[in-house]
Amino acid sequence: MAPSLTNFNHSGSPLEIGLHHDGRRLTPQRQKVLNLFRTIGAGIHISAEEVHQKLLEANSRVSLATIYRTLRLLVEMEFLHELELSEGGHRFELASQDHPDHHHLVCIRCGRTEEFESDQVLVAGKNAAESIGFKLIESTLNVRAVCPDCQ
Ligand SMILES: [Zn+2]
Ligand SMILES: [Zn+2]
Repeated sequence: MAPSLTNFNHSGSPLEIGLHHDGRRLTPQRQKVLNLFRTIGAGIHISAEEVHQKLLEANSRVSLATIYRTLRLLVEMEFLHELELSEGGHRFELASQDHPDHHHLVCIRCGRTEEFESDQVLVAGKNAAESIGFKLIESTLNVRAVCPDCQ
């Protein structure tokens, strides 16, 4: 029996196989952006401009427009998580099994982003969804704040 593409979770990471379960391929350019996130690791939140800068430093010329498109796609493919910040635009982080549901404290002045865990938030989201028959996908909380350096 031919191996099913949906088995990728059990037979190595989607990256190693190079094909997402929805059939979209990780082109070299997409892989380059994803590799950058894998190199810096989970728990780091960077903007499209920072991705652009880091790729330039690594001698990869990719236009900012392409990076925006690639980041959007990698979010759709669930390789990255996107954080929407009201003042600071968008930031992206590696989606990781070892780094499960977490929440963010975001400085509205400098964009510094710190993570925290809260079971209460997870439970509140689950209860709210169940009480009105919604199927839960995730519960995350982004807290807008001002960091010590910016106060
Ligand atoms: Zn995070
Ligand atoms: Zn700050």
